[in-house]
Amino acid sequence: MPLDEYRRKRDFRKSPEPEGIPKEGRRTRKGQPPFFCVQKHLASHLHYDFRLEHEGVLLSWAVPKGPSLDPGIKRLAMHVEDHPIEYGTFEGVIPEGYGAGIVMLWDYGTWTPLVDDVDAALAKGDLKFSLDGYKLKGSWALVRTRGYGDRGGDGRSWLLIKHRDEWAGDLDIADFAPLSVKTGQDFAEILADDNPEIWRTNRPVSGGETGAMLRQIVEAAARLKAERASHSRPRKSARQPASAGSRKATGSHAARRTKKRR
Ligand code: MN
Repeated sequence: MPLDEYRRKRDFRKSPEPEGIPKEGRRTRKGQPPFFCVQKHLASHLHYDFRLEHEGVLLSWAVPKGPSLDPGIKRLAMHVEDHPIEYGTFEGVIPEGYGAGIVMLWDYGTWTPLVDDVDAALAKGDLKFSLDGYKLKGSWALVRTRGYGDRGGDGRSWLLIKHRDEWAGDLDIADFAPLSVKTGQDFAEILADDNPEIWRTNRPVSGGETGAMLRQIVEAAARLKAERASHSRPRKSARQPASAGSRKATGSHAARRTKKRR
């Protein structure tokens, strides 16, 4: 079963993630392009989970630095277990266990293979495709690589690469458009919607850069929740800083994106 590894890693009594019981003979809906999404996931490390719907599941890669629109920048993408289709719109808090942290739906849309046979392309380790999301568009490739450092040769290391087209550019998309396309929220707001108290002690990660980031988010979420409870301030007060507007977002590419920015 394609979702065995996904289920083995999780305790659905403790995680809000969808269990994803596969329907018999489930396939891509006829005549509709398949779904793709990118989930920004603050867990033991911040990463971006890139998922492509194929044959009833979401093929998944964890991209530590997130997608880059610059064709010169190849981003490491670790192939991970297939996820259920229902996972594709999940956003929320995983309180403990595997993947404990905060999941934000950072982008979604449809994808189109630019190869005749997706399975053959995956087996070969070279999948070309186009994306039609809110943040990611145009032509891309996933290319299997030999791996880095000691990991070499386990077949899980791929590179996510933007092809040169009108949607390529040097805009740092992760920095320019950091928020959820589902709710417009940042990590702190997503946590405030849930329960910031769960990590007052015993956070899923405490050390290093990620631990510091999470500590700040927990504090911000607790403040937000208190504000919301008191109705003293509108909840937009804790929105992301306006720094994106001052970034070098020039050219038609950026102008097009600005309208859709979340
Ligand atoms: Mn993840």
